[in-house]
Amino acid sequence: MAQAELIFTGDELLRGEVINTNQSFLAEALLLLGIESTRALCVPDGRAEIASAIRDSLARRPDLLLLSGGLGPTPDDLTREAVADALGRRLEQREELLRVLESRFAHFGRPMEDSNLKQATIPRGSQALEPVGTAPGFYVEQEGVLLIALPGPPAELRRMWSEQVDPLLRGRFALRAGEDHGLVRRLRVFGLGESSVAERLRDLDWREGPVTVGTRSNADGVLIVLRSRQEAGGRQTPDEEETSARRRGLEEAERAVRERLGSHVYGTGDESLSDAVAELLLKQRSTVATAESCTGGLLGKLLTDRPGSSEYYLGGVVSYSNQLKESLLAVDAALLREKGAVSPEVAAAMARGAQSRTGADFTLSTTGVAGPGGGSEEKPVGLVYVGLASADEVEVKELRFPGDRGAIRIRAANSALDLLRRRLLSPRRPRS
Ligand code: ATP
Ligand code: MG
Repeated sequence: MAQAELIFTGDELLRGEVINTNQSFLAEALLLLGIESTRALCVPDGRAEIASAIRDSLARRPDLLLLSGGLGPTPDDLTREAVADALGRRLEQREELLRVLESRFAHFGRPMEDSNLKQATIPRGSQALEPVGTAPGFYVEQEGVLLIALPGPPAELRRMWSEQVDPLLRGRFALRAGEDHGLVRRLRVFGLGESSVAERLRDLDWREGPVTVGTRSNADGVLIVLRSRQEAGGRQTPDEEETSARRRGLEEAERAVRERLGSHVYGTGDESLSDAVAELLLKQRSTVATAESCTGGLLGKLLTDRPGSSEYYLGGVVSYSNQLKESLLAVDAALLREKGAVSPEVAAAMARGAQSRTGADFTLSTTGVAGPGGGSEEKPVGLVYVGLASADEVEVKELRFPGDRGAIRIRAANSALDLLRRRLLSPRRPRS
């Protein structure tokens, strides 16, 4: 397996002001290419510190050395200089980079300052990576190590990665495009805890087989990562035959997992629950609307994360107060008084009210105690009801979530999405 080392520059990372999301992004993206991260280091914004970290890393001769941050125009952006020092190369200004930067600044309607000129310089012998914003990256090879410098802002780093670096590495390491062809497969599961997943997969022999399995859980459910294991003594860059054998092993493992988890598996790769719901709604040409209380609009946000969501999402009501539940969703005042806003009856009435007001094929409702205050013995913090109405029936699910307010709300919204997903997977026949 090819090996990579990663160096992240920034005082703000060391102080804990900024979370190093670039590390998790890069390490995961590398693994998808079959490249293992063997070391990751944060260093201050200092020329000598960065250069020394680069020298240390080069001495270990990894296949790849990735740098993140310090490519901006300010005096604390010193990665270019540090790379030049460590490699013993001079910085040189590139005409083509200067032209690109000028047109970028013109496009953003910002003046190009003298300080930006240094962003058009890169170490001699390196290739420029075109800027996403105004910070170009670059790559250079020295003593068999491919060093790649990327800008720190996560959005810029990610785009530069997917548009320029990922294709470059696929060429270098003779990899095929697309995760499905790769040697890693990620399956997404909802409605089962991590331990229940482990229990259901217990009879599969992961220790000896050709595939390793890892699980992680968060508000989106459980992520199962299946990774093809390289045979001892296998080549660094697997050949065609070895790759397809490993791919078959991975497919077999995926089948075994799906068999045991059934419709709990809602997607693969980066797919979200709302992606899964969106695809089903589009396929069935159905629409959805929402009536939210404790999720405060989060469900509507998730349903509109995808471009083109107006094809299936009509809109929603955030009826936080009882007054709005009555006036906008026609929930009966007496019902609210008798059962309370957090009750299966009110969840059902909210979904039904949204149905008759919007005419959507399906409506989802949420009502619950998100905490931290407001809980009682009968209705504790974390108690949530999600409702689903269609023209001919209403269904309500009671849930109890651990965690803080944020966790409870995201789990409530995802549970509502999952309720709809399951309905769309097994549509009921209208009752006669
Ligand atoms: P800029 O032109 O914005 O200065 P840069 O390449 O010089 O780009 P930095 O100055 O190192 O990048 O970082 C810019 C911002 O990007 C930081 O303030 C921080 O918010 C974010 N950032 C930097 N490194 C990371 C990281 N490893 N993970 C997450 N965010 C990061
Ligand atoms: Mg900077």
